Amino acid sequence: MAALYRGRHRWKRINCLHIFSRKLTGKNDYDLLVIGGGSGGLACSKEAAQLGQKVAVLDYVEPPTMAEAVQNHVKSLNWGHRVQLQDKVLGGVGAYPSYYKARGGTILTAKNIVIATGGRPKYPTNIPGAAEHGITSDDIFWLKKSPGKTLVVGASYVALECAGFLKGIGLDTTVMVRSIALRGFDQQMAGLVTDYMEAHGTRFAWKSVPNRVDKLSSGALQVTWTDTQTGSEHKDTFDSVLWAVGRAPETKALGLDKLGVQLNKETGKIVIGPDESTSVPNIYAFGDIGEGRPELTPTAIKAGKLLARRLTGQSTELMNYDNVPTTVFTPLEYSCVGLSEEEAEKRHGKDGIEIYHAFYKPLEFTVAERDASQCYIKVVCEQGGTGKILGLHFTGPNAGEVAQGFAVGFQCGATYSHLIQTVGIHPTCAEEVVKVHITKRSGLDATVTGC
Ligand code: NAP
Repeated sequence: MAALYRGRHRWKRINCLHIFSRKLTGKNDYDLLVIGGGSGGLACSKEAAQLGQKVAVLDYVEPPTMAEAVQNHVKSLNWGHRVQLQDKVLGGVGAYPSYYKARGGTILTAKNIVIATGGRPKYPTNIPGAAEHGITSDDIFWLKKSPGKTLVVGASYVALECAGFLKGIGLDTTVMVRSIALRGFDQQMAGLVTDYMEAHGTRFAWKSVPNRVDKLSSGALQVTWTDTQTGSEHKDTFDSVLWAVGRAPETKALGLDKLGVQLNKETGKIVIGPDESTSVPNIYAFGDIGEGRPELTPTAIKAGKLLARRLTGQSTELMNYDNVPTTVFTPLEYSCVGLSEEEAEKRHGKDGIEIYHAFYKPLEFTVAERDASQCYIKVVCEQGGTGKILGLHFTGPNAGEVAQGFAVGFQCGATYSHLIQTVGIHPTCAEEVVKVHITKRSGLDATVTGC
């Protein structure tokens, strides 16, 4: 039996988990205790409650100073969740301090415990002034004034998306890239995304690492960094420095190590099996907290629902973590599903794959006379036979909308033959995907005339 104890004086944090070898009452308070009230935790708890389980959700909230409009939006979302949870989840919602205060520190027992505490943006620990003077993506929407001239450190989803909208609202924006942009993604596609941003005014400090951040008497932040290619040191001043250097798991506060829950020493994430089980029976974990899991909200939601169904004996279906589609919401959106060209080559060999590609001009770019040189489609297929599709990549307007539909086909094992047998919808960007016929191997010009 697993149980959760909450200390009387620290209601904001769950103090620790204990495993008791005996049952005091012979009965658990709950069938399921979900720790973490983010999207994944809520999805899991609501699904379990709907399936007749007695469920409690535990979470803590820091009082946030919020910009009014966003605050109202968040409140309305929270209210919706709260109503649904009160309808469906017995035992109330732990996100409300008064709940815990009223309970005055409580021992709760449950047949199963699910940890879905996610992660929080992290600051580098070895850069003087980084945390003191910097902000993260969590702060950006709560600022009371414009962040002004901004340095974004990091080059993955968060960094590029934040830089994209900051530049979009007219701010002087620089992205500092330590190594490559969008690590893990198809690097040709990543290049198109950053080329587009650069062409539209975002500055990039390539192969550069920050050394320190100092606040000047003027209030400006002076950043010193090294260009690792030349070894030269540079300085510039910014109004804001936004760290987008990854997210850290929220495991420490739970004392999981004392319970014997195996953590990855390097990342601090929980080691979990395909069924989301941890090394301790009856304790499960999923979402960003799970080692090797994609840090994506829809993936966590789906995994949480499937876990709830398995825990209630309704299903044995496991989450399929392969083929998860995703979109990078940069000024030129990039969406993909499946393998990058690099990964496909690694797994199947250069001669084992065929790549169909096309540069295309979206209709909306034509009318506005916008440069479409980064609008591109790449379909990575197995060489020979029907040409099973291994990866599909798309940059252009509404890339997420386009890729979502193709992801269904991908999930069903779509082949290149299926693709070209499909009739296009005119005039759309997506129709260019079902028309791709030029192979990279041919070396022919892949520019197609517009939609
Ligand atoms: P991330 O994917 O872990 O990338 C971290 C970035 O920071 C990398 O570019 C890394 O460079 C750089 N970095 C790390 N330490 C650094 C240092 N000390 N100095 C300079 N650069 C440093 O983190 P993220 O972009 O914050 O995203 C977190 C997760 O959120 C992602 O895994 C993603 O799945 C999810 N997310 C998804 C979406 C979406 O679906 N649209 C949007 C936002 C976030 P190196 O490559 O050199 O290591």
